[in-house]
Amino acid sequence: MENILIKQKTKTIHFERAIFTSWYCNLGDCAYCYMSTQKSKISEPEKARRSIASILAEAYLCKKLGWKIGFLSAGYGSYTAESILELCKNVYEIYGEKFWLNIGVLNEKTIEKVSPYLKGVCGAVETVNDDVRKKVIPNKHLASIEEMYRICEKFNLKKSMTFIVGLGEQIDDFPLLKDFIIRNNIKKIIFYALNPIEGTIFENSKGPEINYFIEWIRKTRENFPNIDIVAGHWVNRVNYIHLMIDAGANAITKFPAIKLFNSMHAKNIEKEIKTAGFELQGTFTKIPDIDYDEIKHIKNRNFDDKLKNDIIKKVKQYIRTMNR
Ligand code: SF4
Repeated sequence: MENILIKQKTKTIHFERAIFTSWYCNLGDCAYCYMSTQKSKISEPEKARRSIASILAEAYLCKKLGWKIGFLSAGYGSYTAESILELCKNVYEIYGEKFWLNIGVLNEKTIEKVSPYLKGVCGAVETVNDDVRKKVIPNKHLASIEEMYRICEKFNLKKSMTFIVGLGEQIDDFPLLKDFIIRNNIKKIIFYALNPIEGTIFENSKGPEINYFIEWIRKTRENFPNIDIVAGHWVNRVNYIHLMIDAGANAITKFPAIKLFNSMHAKNIEKEIKTAGFELQGTFTKIPDIDYDEIKHIKNRNFDDKLKNDIIKKVKQYIRTMNR
């Protein structure tokens, strides 16, 4: 198949950074998830939240580095309607664009409140195979996610979904995914290769074979020429990114891009994207120019001097990590 991205004259591949906001999840029983190994240790959602300054510093750096916010993410029950509204307003202020949210199933009241700041809402679908769902995702019900998607339509929000390859599904399940995408008018799908986490039932798995992972991308692109496909490659699959793009991915994610900034892996990603005939939008290797006055001059009543100073401290800390 001719690469659809070339046909559409797309020249760049962008990086989507998922901004993690909390260590808490009140489900905590998805068999592949790190949170399922932590639930018993964390009982108060507020205390498990990341500091607002570090979240905003990361959003600010995304803007400066040319990265998109894949979504703000958190486990189920990490935020109240009010606290998520404040967070969304603040991220929107510092990032300057609408973004996606992935913090579990949201009710209509919450969606209505946060909708002015959002491009769309992501459903953590993970798999469409019912038997696999019963075994590894017993309490994240598809019906609730689909109900949330219907509410999103009322507020003109786009819908996206995550899909983890390697949970026990087979490529023969593709028609189920196709129906799901059509039924819910999904505009973006993020494919992750299962990353086996210590302490979970997958700890001895190697994750999916690369060709199998890429087959999911290829079939999705063949059936949906206009959908956004984001490939979550982790560090161990960086050398296959050109194949993921050949198969139809138009964005990448799941790379610790601050920690590994300008590393061998970061340089490889830029090379891989070139090998596929594209350019990375933004950079994984050049430290951006930062004008800290830009943060000091934010005029928004939520940003008092203390918060601005804390954001600046965090940005400096991240830049030091990137310079190592
Ligand atoms: S709902 Fe999300 S954060 Fe919570 S256990 Fe499942 S995958 Fe992990």
